[in-house]
Amino acid sequence: MLKPESYAAGTWIAPGDAARAIHGPNDGSQIAVAGGAALDVQAMLDWARNTGGPALREMGFHDRARMLKALAGYLTERKEELYALNTLTGATRRDGAVDIEGGIGTLAVIAGKGRREMPDGQVYVDGAPEGLSRDGSFVGQHICVPLQGVAVHINAFNFPVWGMLEKLAPTLLAGMPAIVKPATQTCYLTEACFRMMIESGLLPEGAVQLVVGGVGDMLDHLGAQDVVSFTGSADTALQLRGNVNLMRNSVRFHSEQDSLNATILGPDASAGTPEFDAFIKEVSNEITTKAGQKCTAIRRILVPQSAMSDVAEALLARLSGVKVGDPSDESTRMGALASASQKADVLEKLAAFTPETRRLTGDPEDTGANPAGAYLAPTLLQCDDPDAATALHQMEAFGPVSTLMPYRDLAHATRLANRGGGSLVASLVTADADVARQVTLASAAWHGRLYIVGGANAKSATGHGAPMPHMVHGGPGRAGGGEELGGVRGVLHYMQRTAIQGSPEVIAAITGQWMPGAPTSTGPAHPFQRTFTEIAIGESLETKPRTVTLDDIEHFAHFTGDTFYAHMDEDAARANPFFPGRVAHGYLLLSFAAGLFVQPDPGPVLANTGLNGLSFQKPVSPGDSIRCRLTCARKTRRTDTYGEVAWNVTLTNQDGDQVAQYELLTMVSYDR
Ligand code: NDP
Repeated sequence: MLKPESYAAGTWIAPGDAARAIHGPNDGSQIAVAGGAALDVQAMLDWARNTGGPALREMGFHDRARMLKALAGYLTERKEELYALNTLTGATRRDGAVDIEGGIGTLAVIAGKGRREMPDGQVYVDGAPEGLSRDGSFVGQHICVPLQGVAVHINAFNFPVWGMLEKLAPTLLAGMPAIVKPATQTCYLTEACFRMMIESGLLPEGAVQLVVGGVGDMLDHLGAQDVVSFTGSADTALQLRGNVNLMRNSVRFHSEQDSLNATILGPDASAGTPEFDAFIKEVSNEITTKAGQKCTAIRRILVPQSAMSDVAEALLARLSGVKVGDPSDESTRMGALASASQKADVLEKLAAFTPETRRLTGDPEDTGANPAGAYLAPTLLQCDDPDAATALHQMEAFGPVSTLMPYRDLAHATRLANRGGGSLVASLVTADADVARQVTLASAAWHGRLYIVGGANAKSATGHGAPMPHMVHGGPGRAGGGEELGGVRGVLHYMQRTAIQGSPEVIAAITGQWMPGAPTSTGPAHPFQRTFTEIAIGESLETKPRTVTLDDIEHFAHFTGDTFYAHMDEDAARANPFFPGRVAHGYLLLSFAAGLFVQPDPGPVLANTGLNGLSFQKPVSPGDSIRCRLTCARKTRRTDTYGEVAWNVTLTNQDGDQVAQYELLTMVSYDR
């Protein structure tokens, strides 16, 4: 008998007297006992806020990203222990991979994003500085800092591991501690993964806690710096978001709930095309993976009227080969629903669909391999008048159930897709980019994600139902109105965006990044002879001037082949409103700039890896003289041996007018 424990304020707490029996879905027998112990909610919140939060905030984004990466590695090593419990939830090994390895993969991707896209510090710089005064002495910068409270994650039963990790990764990367509350039905799998995280020793004390069972009155104790992230049913979401204390304190409430996801077969994708085959495969997978218990699963299949019989026939052929039964049997394609009550819920929804549909396959009376288990055959319904239907567009049967519906034209298809009232994902299978554009314009506003596949990329596409950590997961309206993941976007949900206004010096001190107008310094040696560790933010070099001659311009033009008239033909150049006559190539100026600021000897600078934000502000005419200023703007550790130094480079002419600006990226060794 499994006895998953809560982890509260650093202590494991076993199930109490009021613990709930958990019956497994495979044969109905009791597999666990969970919850029922009184938890000191206030002590948990205090431990997170006063111990976990400060410890996490003390670290920078990159420290936390490294911690998440290490955690992903640790969990990968122990994943078989999780697979051993996975089948108890009714899931096959393939289903388990989506949950377990999908969750660990999400952790790793978010960690990678943190290293690559967030600064090596404690303040996230959001966008470019804004000039707020004519003389540049007063500027604005949006920054994001971690919230100083605790994130309470309330998760659904269907993804016990992914559901926890996809919320934890952005929360911890942001620098916020979390209290995780898994759905009780599958909490033993979440607990096993959570316990590994604690045993890894990788997370600071107070960073994570676990509630097995109910959260008690925890939401009544949340405040302005706390966040609730919820996944589950719309009814529970409504009840929780209506909590007066949450509303009084404007506690952020992210919700991901019911979603009536649709897929559209494009008018071009008729039987015999690769698109048609891809469509059938995708729909069939969506019905059977996790026995249809995926928030992103396809519930409504929209097909051109003329293709209805082909699609029905092909889907029936595919679904007839799906073996339903014991998820631990390798030949089983689809396991059980998560519980008997979940099956009862699906049957109830099926009954509501009956007046609007006819059943093509899937007998609700068929109890499958084991009558005591929560098995349900893949069920394909057909609705011939989707305009008249209501239940199908409003109710989610959270199981292996999907309904085929005909559409007349694309406008009709998108109207039907949008009738779900807001979804997590809608997909379109087409090889026609114009169809894709029309569908996007008509329906993107109603769906958190649009997944568009043609025959050519069907094999490499990631799957309708797979939320990618890089991409936003969430949707408007019925889907909850929340947003998760989406790379760094998901991290910002656990941070406060603050507009900082002040002098460039103040802004630079806060962000740890130099900006124009902030003080500069001169180092003891040429910047290219300074190691990553030695070079200081704001360290700057001004070069001597160089005169640009007509010979230089002509030489460069013939050497590179860039004989554009603005450089070579005085009359044509004069006729151009941008130029006073023949001018130097922008690329010539860049090359001269490098010639001016480079220190040629071997040293710590390893490579020039690119430049950002290049702009040319003023033309340079023959006879003009340019000089360059190179200033260390930003430093980011990349590997154990070198990091990236970003240099602000400006070119000015003999009158002191800026003619070009860019950011130069170099890789620089930590040591000499
Ligand atoms: P619920 O909304 O009942 O539960 C979701 C989570 O909320 C669980 O952790 C649950 O805990 C918790 N919870 C329930 N009541 C409270 C409360 N008063 N205070 C704090 N936490 C609470 O959803 P289920 O997981 O049971 O799924 C039911 C339906 O939700 C499905 O049939 C499906 O339609 C939909 N669903 C939608 C998903 C989506 O992402 N679109 C995902 C999963 C489900 P406990 O388990 O202990 O009750």
